[in-house]
Amino acid sequence: MIPISTVRLDSSVEESVLKVLRSGVIAQGTVVSEFEERFAGLVGAKHAIAVNNGTTALVAAIGALDLKQGDEVITSPFTFIATLNAILEAGATARFADIREEDFGLDAGSASAQVTDHTRVVMPVHLYGQSVDMAAISELAQAHDLSIVEDAAQAHGATFQGRGVGTFGIGCFSFYATKNLTTGEGGVITTNDDAIAEKLRIMRNQGMRARYEYVMAGHNYRLTDLQAAVVLPQLDAYAAQLEARRRNARGLQERLHGIPGLVIPTELSERGHVWHQFTVLLPDGTDRDDVVASLTASGVGSGIYYPKLVFDYDAYRERPDVIASDTPVAASVARRCVSLPVHSFVAESDLDTIAAAVRDALGVR
Ligand SMILES: *Cc1c(COP(=O)(O)O)cnc(C)c1O
Repeated sequence: MIPISTVRLDSSVEESVLKVLRSGVIAQGTVVSEFEERFAGLVGAKHAIAVNNGTTALVAAIGALDLKQGDEVITSPFTFIATLNAILEAGATARFADIREEDFGLDAGSASAQVTDHTRVVMPVHLYGQSVDMAAISELAQAHDLSIVEDAAQAHGATFQGRGVGTFGIGCFSFYATKNLTTGEGGVITTNDDAIAEKLRIMRNQGMRARYEYVMAGHNYRLTDLQAAVVLPQLDAYAAQLEARRRNARGLQERLHGIPGLVIPTELSERGHVWHQFTVLLPDGTDRDDVVASLTASGVGSGIYYPKLVFDYDAYRERPDVIASDTPVAASVARRCVSLPVHSFVAESDLDTIAAAVRDALGVR
C-alpha cells in the first residue's frame, strides 16, 4: 500500500529528543526558543510563538485582536473543521465566502460580499500547501480595515510573490503528526507586529509578563522542549523534503495529464507550493466512493480533504454564530476532491502505480 501520509522520523530525531530527556528541562525552555527562532527564519517573520497545537494558534491569534461579542470573521467553508472551531472558541461569529477552484483558496470578491459592519477579520486558509491570492486578500483587508489571520496549518514555507505565508497577517501553523513538519502535536504563530507578539507570549503563559506579574487572564498554551526537539532535525532536512514533494507533484502532473474531466492541481505563478497534499478533482458525476475503493484495491492510499463544507453539520446548523452562505464552488470541490500520495516517501516507481490506479479507477487508458 502507498499510504496517503507516512510519519518516519530518523535517528537524528531520536538523539535530539534523548538529549532533552536527559537534560532535566523538558517543558518550555531553550529548545522551544531555538525552534521559534529558526521557524521565524523559515517563514521570514519577525516573531514566532510556539503553542501546543495549530487550533490553539488560531484561537490565540484571534484572541490577540480583542474582538467584541458579535464581531465577525470571514473564512473559507472548505477547510479542516479546526478553522471554524477556533473562530467559535475565540468568541467570534463565522461567515463564509466562496473559494477559487484554481487554488482552493478564499475568493476575495466573494469575501467582499460578506463584509458587514461587524466584520473584523478575514481568515484565508492556505490549503494543501499553496498560498491564497494574498494580494487580493490584503487589498480587501485594507479597504475594510480588517485584520488578517492566516490559517497556514498546511503551508510551512509556502510563498506568495516571494513572501512567506504567515507574514501577511498573523500566521498560524500546525505541527500535527501528518503535517509537513511535526512535533506530534504543536503550533506556531508568526507575526511582524511587536505588540501582538508580546501579547501572545503573555497569553500563552498564564497572562504573566514577569514572575507573578499577571496582566491578563491567560492560558497554558505552551509547547514543550521535548516536542520542539522532535522538529529541529526536520528543519535541517526540510529543503530536501520539499524538493521530493515538488518532484512527486511534477511526476503526477505529467502522468495524469489528459484524463478527460480530471482537474490536476498546479503551482500558480508567483507562488511557492509546498505540496502538503496533491488534490485532484474528479469529473462531474463520478462516484467518488467507487474511485476510492478502486484506488485502495490497487494499493494506492487516498484522502478526502474535505468531504463536506464546515458549516454543513448538524452541530453548527442552529448556532447564531455560524452564518452559512451559498458557496457553489466550494460545494462542488467538496464533492469532487480526492488527495493522492505526494509526500517525500513516495518513490518514482510509486508514481507510475498511482497514475495507473487513477486511470483504472476512472476507466480510462
Ligand atoms: C491541521 C489543521 C488545523 C489544526 O491544527 P492542529 O494542530 O491539528 O490543531 C487547522 N487548520 C487546518 C487547515 C489544518 O489542516
